[in-house]
Amino acid sequence: MKVRGRGSEFRHGEPEHHVVSVDGLALTVLLRRGARRTLSLRVDERGTRVDAPRGAAIDSIEGFVREHADWIQRHVARIAQARTEAAIEIADGIRLDLFGESCVVRLVAGRRTAGWGDDEMAILLLPAASPLPALERAVRNHARQWFERRVRFHCERLGEPSPPVALSSARRRWGSCSRRSGIRLHWKLALLPVALADYVVAHEVAHLREMNHSSRFWALVAGLYPDWRAARAALRARAGCLPEFVTAADTGGMPGVESR
Ligand SMILES: [Zn+2]
Repeated sequence: MKVRGRGSEFRHGEPEHHVVSVDGLALTVLLRRGARRTLSLRVDERGTRVDAPRGAAIDSIEGFVREHADWIQRHVARIAQARTEAAIEIADGIRLDLFGESCVVRLVAGRRTAGWGDDEMAILLLPAASPLPALERAVRNHARQWFERRVRFHCERLGEPSPPVALSSARRRWGSCSRRSGIRLHWKLALLPVALADYVVAHEVAHLREMNHSSRFWALVAGLYPDWRAARAALRARAGCLPEFVTAADTGGMPGVESR
């Protein structure tokens, strides 16, 4: 079997980047070979992935990608659009909703850490020089406290003792629950409508009683959060693209690079 790029270093099942030229355009795909009979394509926020049978000729894989180039480009464009919509541009004076409570962000020259400008948490002060890391820490702190309160609330209704609560930043999970380590919740839930965040808390609390997704489990969820179907659908729609803090410099074409 011949695979371009890594030569003898290539191991079965290990994905590798492969560039396919389509009408003069370079399309990068992540190629993974495995025990399968057909070629398959998937486009998500991580990129375009092709799963191929171990012995598939590279020409047939490239042909397959070219055949579906329009479809790939449509999906790539849709994801880029969703990413733009999920971007929260941080600038002095913007309003930021945390669990549905609005605060005004102020960028303050000379500050080194985030802090609240008042008792009502209506003004969030951030260092002007480098606001994003401080902002993430502030949102995480706030999220931890909010989650602990809501976990306690739902646990009391269910008659369960409150487990330890930790934050997560998993790529594709809003929350998880384990008997050993307790409940983990994604800190970015703070940036979604508050009802969605509360649904995730109710969902994970219900797992303390039922570690599965049986009808008994969903009955418990419905008792804690009656409108769970709508919340679940809304969260699924958003799972591909989590909210992302950016600064004006980022949106100017330097993704992930912070302004100074
Ligand atoms: Zn679950």
